[in-house]
Amino acid sequence: MHVAIIGNGVTGVTAAVRIRQRRPDWRITLISGESRYHYSRPALMYVFMGHMRYEDTKPFEDSYWAEQRIDLLRAWVTEIDTEQKRLHLLDRDPLAYDRLLIATGSKPNRFGWPGQDLEGVQGLWGLYDLKRLYDTAARTEQAVIVGGGLIGIELAEMLHSRNIDVTFLVRERSYWDNILPKEESGMINEIIRAAGIGLRLETELKEIVSDDSRRCVAVETGNGERISCQLVGLTAGVSPNIDLLRESSIETKRGVLVDSSLRTSAADVWAAGDCAEILRPEADRNLIQQVWYTGKLQGELVGDVIAGEERAYDPGIWFNSAKFLDLEYQTYGQVNMDVPGEKNLFWRHPDQQLAVRIVYTDDGVVGVNLMGLRWRHEVCERWILDKRPVHWVLEHLAEANFDPEFFRRHEPAIQSALREQIA
Ligand SMILES: Cc1cc2nc3c(=O)[nH]c(=O)nc-3n(C[C@H](O)[C@H](O)[C@H](O)COP(=O)(O)OP(=O)(O)OC[C@H]3O[C@@H](n4cnc5c(N)ncnc54)[C@H](O)[C@@H]3O)c2cc1C
Repeated sequence: MHVAIIGNGVTGVTAAVRIRQRRPDWRITLISGESRYHYSRPALMYVFMGHMRYEDTKPFEDSYWAEQRIDLLRAWVTEIDTEQKRLHLLDRDPLAYDRLLIATGSKPNRFGWPGQDLEGVQGLWGLYDLKRLYDTAARTEQAVIVGGGLIGIELAEMLHSRNIDVTFLVRERSYWDNILPKEESGMINEIIRAAGIGLRLETELKEIVSDDSRRCVAVETGNGERISCQLVGLTAGVSPNIDLLRESSIETKRGVLVDSSLRTSAADVWAAGDCAEILRPEADRNLIQQVWYTGKLQGELVGDVIAGEERAYDPGIWFNSAKFLDLEYQTYGQVNMDVPGEKNLFWRHPDQQLAVRIVYTDDGVVGVNLMGLRWRHEVCERWILDKRPVHWVLEHLAEANFDPEFFRRHEPAIQSALREQIA
């Protein structure tokens, strides 16, 4: 049995390791066009800022793969022939498979902006982007970042750390306000501005302007402003990377369509991670999850399924964490605004960038947002899974305490403020 895996991101490698654990004698080939070895994509920014070496972003020793008898193939797959069970590769002979996992991740969105292909214009997704960034940043004094999401703020921080004058164009009324409630989003606006990054809200990119040599020299915004820059970062979200499947018979929509066991419409082909769109006939929308830990969860599951175990994906309680400059953010469960039947409690420290939001219904707590504070993952998850009543949660806040010092200072203030709001 030969299992081929396209993509050596967290999803692909997790699946490969899992299959090896369950099937010691199967042949496994892990293919990636980007790099021979798996590395941590979220760590790219720390490499650029000099906090880590590239070597340190590889969670496995290079020797691990040979020890595990997992073949690594650095190649781009150009076509999947599901009839012949063969992968066509760029500049190489085709590769036959018995079972196939597609774990091709996401790709940055590009909206056809005039000038988006000029020199000095780029996204931040992989090693190639990092390399270009080193080159361009070295001759850049002013940069413009377009798109108010997580990668945009990372890129802004990276360039700002090199004393580049950064302007951040955000189309929305407030940073990431399609995900964050007004207060949390407002806190991030404040810290971006306090860091000296020029935040332009409700501002769209109209055009990127070049000199005679097709190098970008400025952007023009929808508000008629012209901002000089030598580098433009395009970070307006990501989409499942399914380019490879354009000519194939495998069904796709926004991502590769899969059932709850991550099987595609083609026999012996699975898809998982950022590129997968999980069919949910019972819900109003299919599920696309594009974060690190869900890639790992889906990789584990699909590895088991490919190895012959019947399992269905359970996304569990949603969790995400990020860092906005110096501000840490964690979210658990469902934190959506204006949902009928849901109530929000919100506490913010009067002087510091610290905040807590607890969302609850009559049935118990459904979501928690933390800004500048870190609580225990398993405790927050348990509150939501067990549908703990909000009074009970306030009573037991100390159990989520990560840092005893923090609770000595803020716990009583959080409890009394939130109890007052309930009353
Ligand atoms: C800058 C940045 C920061 C991030 N920070 C965070 C964070 O802090 N927290 C978080 O949860 N998530 C973060 N993410 C998102 C996270 O990295 C992704 O969710 C995760 O990497 C998805 O894993 P994956 O294995 O599905 O795909 P990917 O990691 O994208 O891997 C896809 C692989 O497929 C390969 N591939 C694609 N097409 C082909 C082809 N045709 N032929 C051969 N190989 C192919 C690529 O080479 C690549 O190796 C960040 C992403 C970026 C870009």
